Amino acid sequence: MQSENRHAGETGTPHTAAETAPRAGAGAAVRAADAARPGTALVTPATATAERIVRAPKVLLHDHLDGGLRPSTVIELADAVGYRDLPETEPGKLAEWFREAADSPAKAQGDDGGKGLERYLETFAHTCAVMQTRDALFRVAAECAEDLAADGVVYAEIRYAPEQHLEAGLSLEEVVEAVNEGFREGERRALAAGNRIRVGALLTAMRHAARSLEIAELANRYRDLGVVGFDIAGAEAGFPPTRHLDAFEYLKRENNHFTIHAGEAFGLPSIWQALQWCGADRLGHGVRLIDDIHVAEDGTVKLGRLASYVRDKRVPLELCPTSNLQTGAAPSYERHPIGLLRALHFRVTVNTDNRLMSATTMSREFGHLVDAFGYTLDDLEWITVNSMKSAFIPFDERLAMINDVIKPGYAELKAEWLFQHAAGSSGVASGSATPGA
Ligand SMILES: [Zn+2]
Repeated sequence: MQSENRHAGETGTPHTAAETAPRAGAGAAVRAADAARPGTALVTPATATAERIVRAPKVLLHDHLDGGLRPSTVIELADAVGYRDLPETEPGKLAEWFREAADSPAKAQGDDGGKGLERYLETFAHTCAVMQTRDALFRVAAECAEDLAADGVVYAEIRYAPEQHLEAGLSLEEVVEAVNEGFREGERRALAAGNRIRVGALLTAMRHAARSLEIAELANRYRDLGVVGFDIAGAEAGFPPTRHLDAFEYLKRENNHFTIHAGEAFGLPSIWQALQWCGADRLGHGVRLIDDIHVAEDGTVKLGRLASYVRDKRVPLELCPTSNLQTGAAPSYERHPIGLLRALHFRVTVNTDNRLMSATTMSREFGHLVDAFGYTLDDLEWITVNSMKSAFIPFDERLAMINDVIKPGYAELKAEWLFQHAAGSSGVASGSATPGA
């Protein structure tokens, strides 16, 4: 179970909600947590119940296309292309296999000769294997947009590495166009179902490969045509972002945007390079920034120079709580650095990373934080506004999303109690009788 991993190494944690109902959606978790903590059981207009979290507008900046397939789609696509290496062929079992395999690095705790990490990487070998044709990429992208919209996500930047989808003969351009068309289709299907979402693509280059300049040029060519930025991903150790300086310098000269996976497995030097050598607009994860923040016994906080810089410059941190637990970058939800980073007013954003491997959604990630830190709708709104401010689409569009979609959405949720009374009452006092009747 994921919950075993979540709480590994902790003793005496009074919290049980996520352990008793980790897969049941945030609802049971939220209610159980409220009941378990004296003083937090009150439901106020800003209480983030599971049902409200799903309806609240959400923004997602860090989510991998090849990490978010529906299990049933993986199986159907594998059938269609004759891929026979899936470990399971029943959707429920396959979903479970993905989640357990992704738990491996944290469970192994470095004493398995790297087998945990191998298994983690194997999960992406399966999903990429079935995403090699135009139709497959179109379908996966369309379903991605649909699934996010159904979960209340109104804006998403979804990333993928075009170079990983060339095995069946597609060109880089054909990959990008298939995914773009899929996102547009997904947006249309979502709208037909009553959900509004806008999806932009981030093109990722792999850190261990040598195609980053080519992919950066691709991102620039498809700018304003569905691609909103660039990213590098893959193993941090041994592959510093400075290996790809020419790609970042090219994008800067083109006035384009990029984020860099940094500070997940690797510590402060990786974050420092991503910012001060490469000029990243955002940090993918950045969770290890916590190593540069010192909290004394008496609670006073001292930021190191790098942490200060990140906070002063409002550098967005693309935090992914469940993923961080699985890779061992954080020990538990309760002890995830997001609690301290939010309290210190860093530009915190919350993300899913890989919805399939982490068996998660944006609503579940929010639910875990509500559970761990007692966040209310006001906290979730603050995080969502942070995310929208940090998106790579133009400023006027970000502002309109914040003022015309996100803020009204949260205001409406918080105002619902005003009308519940009217809906639940007939206006006649029970037992009252009209005199003389
Ligand atoms: Zn990632």
